Amino acid sequence: MLKKVLIANRGEIAVRIIRACSEAGIRSVAIFTEPDRYALHAKRADESYSLGDDPLAGYLDPLRLVNLAVETGCDAIHPGYGFLSENANFAQLCEQKGIVFIGPKSSVIHKMGDKTQARDSMRAAGIPITPGSEGNLADLEEALSLAGKIGYPVMIKATSGGGGRGIRRCDTPEELKNQYPRVISEATKAFGSAEVFLEKCIVDPCHIEVQILADSQGNVIHLFERDCSIQRRNQKLIEIAPSPQLTPEQRQYIGNLAVKAAKAVGYENAGTVEFLLSGNEVYFMEMNTRVQVEHTITEQITGVDIVREQLRIAAGLPLSFRQEDIHFRGFAMQFRINAEDPKNDFLPSFGRITHYYAPGGPGVRVDTAIYTGYEIPPYFDSMCLKLVVWALTWEEMIARGRRAIDDMRLHGIKTTSNYYQEILKHPDFVKGQFNTGFVPAHPELLNYSVKRHPSDIALVLAAAIAAHVGR
Ligand code: ADP
Ligand code: ADP
Ligand code: MG
Repeated sequence: MLKKVLIANRGEIAVRIIRACSEAGIRSVAIFTEPDRYALHAKRADESYSLGDDPLAGYLDPLRLVNLAVETGCDAIHPGYGFLSENANFAQLCEQKGIVFIGPKSSVIHKMGDKTQARDSMRAAGIPITPGSEGNLADLEEALSLAGKIGYPVMIKATSGGGGRGIRRCDTPEELKNQYPRVISEATKAFGSAEVFLEKCIVDPCHIEVQILADSQGNVIHLFERDCSIQRRNQKLIEIAPSPQLTPEQRQYIGNLAVKAAKAVGYENAGTVEFLLSGNEVYFMEMNTRVQVEHTITEQITGVDIVREQLRIAAGLPLSFRQEDIHFRGFAMQFRINAEDPKNDFLPSFGRITHYYAPGGPGVRVDTAIYTGYEIPPYFDSMCLKLVVWALTWEEMIARGRRAIDDMRLHGIKTTSNYYQEILKHPDFVKGQFNTGFVPAHPELLNYSVKRHPSDIALVLAAAIAAHVGR
């Protein structure tokens, strides 16, 4: 097994990886930039190193991180998600310096991180993809002519895009003319690449993705699917495993399709194959070559510790399971509790958490790096807590979700949690019928009134006094 791992990330995912290392008897090395000096990941790891004052530069410096791993005697680097996790150069640098990159080979990251190359590979492997570009678009003329052929609506997408950015729907040639330069400029700014491609827009599909695990001996298994259709602006808000909307036949088909996709590109380690489902049609959308934010719900229904498996695979060990060993039980749902104000167009709401009380009880899991008194820095992602609930049945899971959100106290910042309560009450959601059009179709769910528990004021005051006295 690995002996010492550098975690090239921050926040809840860094803490999640430190926990897996700790359980596996692996020493963990955290990195932080000065705004994160009091962050939980920096405190919880066995060792931690400052990477300077700039909030972001240190987390995004491949050479510095690989050198640090070498200097501190690490065998491996875990990149988490975001940051350098899908940076093929970073993985390659690790390979060159004799550090194990906990993920697939750099050549596979390179291929799958580029959405048009990924489409090419999938087309060649016989995996259904959305109708659209072969390769990147040369210019607007080509975009218009292709859109005319496949029919509107279409999507223009950044080839190196991620995190729901760099994607625009166009319903008419006029919209395509307007949006084309916008996506190019957004892609250039956000991803450092001006390349874009076009595909058919599947109207109101379900986002279904499959978790896969692959070892260095060529064994590939899937851990069933997640339904991530509850999205706002192409960004996931609530994720569910398994999908309540698949027949057993669809589940088997899509699981096998993901394994086939992974095998076709020589995939290794944990990864996710994302699909769009419309009626009985399934289309490959992209592959994420890293651990995902919502790996938690798959862990809850299958009992498999995905990060532990990542560490084992990176050490060259075979998978702990065969496909026939993997079963799922019940339903799990994750709420991405973001530091945002839903009533103000989801504007980020950074600041000091004056009081935090974690929900608990049966079937409740919280993955976060926040604590009472923690100041959420404005430089990073607004997701501040992942609340995961599990129950034997769909109905119990929804009731548990409501109860767990009700349990939680998080004061000092605005969050998305009250909005999620409204989604949980909606009859279609309760029936398990929703697609990626759900959030835009229900703006009325933003008209909730924020209820205050009478005890909240007292709790906040007590926390404020405790924090003051403690200083
Ligand atoms: P997941 O695919 O795990 O559901 P998200 O799409 O929400 O996760 O992305 C997780 C994090 O990674 C977010 O902070 C997001 O902004 C970031 N991210 C994802 N893809 C990219 C990319 N290509 N470039 C930069 N950041 C990215
Ligand atoms: P990212 O890398 O940012 O995660 P994806 O390609 O996975 O980008 O797309 C993000 C989301 O955008 C999907 O979950 C889906 O809701 C929507 N989307 C992307 N492509 C299409 C499409 N062709 N038709 C309809 N919706 C799409
Ligand atoms: Mg995606």
